[in-house]
This record gives sequence, C-alpha cells and structure tokens, in this order.
Amino acid sequence: MDHIARNWLELNERVADAARRAGRSPAEVTIVAVTKTRSAEEVSAAIAAGVTDVGENRIQEAADKRALAHGAARWHLIGQCQRNKAGRAVDVFDVVHSVDNNRLADALNRRAAESDRHLEALLQVNTAGAQQQGGVEPAQLPALLAHVADLSHLQISGLMTIAVHSADTDDVRSCFRQLHALAQENRHRSPAGLDVLSMGMSGDFETAIEEGATMIRVGTLLFGERTTDGRPA
Ligand SMILES: *Cc1c(COP(=O)(O)O)cnc(C)c1O
Repeated sequence: MDHIARNWLELNERVADAARRAGRSPAEVTIVAVTKTRSAEEVSAAIAAGVTDVGENRIQEAADKRALAHGAARWHLIGQCQRNKAGRAVDVFDVVHSVDNNRLADALNRRAAESDRHLEALLQVNTAGAQQQGGVEPAQLPALLAHVADLSHLQISGLMTIAVHSADTDDVRSCFRQLHALAQENRHRSPAGLDVLSMGMSGDFETAIEEGATMIRVGTLLFGERTTDGRPA
C-alpha cells in the first residue's frame, strides 16, 4: 500500500502550496482522510503514513474499522447522523461534522453527558441550495446556534459544508465563501467561536483553502476511486 504514503506526501505538498498562495500557513489546514468503503488495513496504512484524522460517513462501518485499525487518530463523522444513532456516534467518533437540527443536537448532548464526555461538533450548513440534502439553511443558522449554545456537553467549534457539485469553479467557490462569511457573522453567537471551517474535497480543496478552509475532507486523492459512493444504502 505504498501508494497511500505517496499520495499523502503529494497531497500535503498541494495543501501547503494552496495555503501559501492564499497567504496562509499550511499548519492552519487539517487534512481529514476520508476512508469510507476502504478497509481497516488501508486505514492503518494511512495512519502509518502520517494521517492524524480519519473521516467516515457511516457509524457502523467506522466502529468496525476503528476496532481493527492500528494507530491513533481522531475519528470524524462526516455523514448524516440519525437521532436514534446518537449514542453510537458518541461512542465511535471524536468529532461530528453533521449537526443540522435541534433534536439531533439534543440527542448527541444527552448521550455525551451520559458518557461523561464533551463531544466536539460542527454545524453543517446547506450552501448548495436545492441540490443538497442535509445541512441547516443559512437563514436558520442563528437559531440553531442559539439552541446549541445551551448544550453543556456539545462543543461547537465551527461550520461544515459540502459545495454544490458543479464543473463551474465560481459556483463551488461561492459555497465556500458563503460558509466563511456565515462563520464571521455568527461567531459572537458561539461561546467557543466558529474557527473551524470544514470544506473542500478531492476535487475542490484548493479553492476551499483559498476561501479559508481549516479542515479539508479528502478520500479519492489518497486512496483512489471508490467503486461505490459510500452513501448509506
Ligand atoms: C466522501 C466524502 C468526502 C470525500 O470525497 P472525495 O471526493 O473522495 O475526496 C468528503 N466529504 C464528505 C461529506 C463525503 O461524504
């Protein structure tokens, strides 16, 4: 699995170049290696190569892999979380990127309290309009932030988005720009600020870094093309 170590080095160079071009420090950008559909051996190889953060979109798949993979990493839930799976999510993940409604936030907070944990979470915002499922509408973000500010075991550190799927870079860029602007406009509503911006994937991470991403979620460039899309069946 040498390709994973090679791809990791190459990706780090591209991230550093993009950051410098944007006048930012490469250290401001964390790469979350998206391992959905990949084996526990591939996850172990990635961690051995230097990956510190692993992203999965299905809770059970992540639980199975986390039990088998070697090496320490922070595990991120990047896919939707059903409310009745909140307890499992709290058990398996260090960070949840997909909080987009009050009831899910309440469930995660309650289960984190039961486990005596503080769960780091991001609020997922829909910046892509009708095309997209998941994510709070931008106009509803202040209300969601007001709600989660009172939840003692959920630590909101920032925002997450999935850009519109488009060949037009301007459309993609405007999604990232909107997330950045929303974080700035609303940071006073969040006790811990909204410093984390999780945005950008294999096809658009350089644009995301130019627009302020502090966390990018990259699968294909590290592991190769997926044969399935890794969405819940
Ligand atoms: C699959 C996935 C990614 C990674 O996509 P690539 O194009 O393979 O880099 C990033 N974010 C989310 C939410 C995903 O589901």
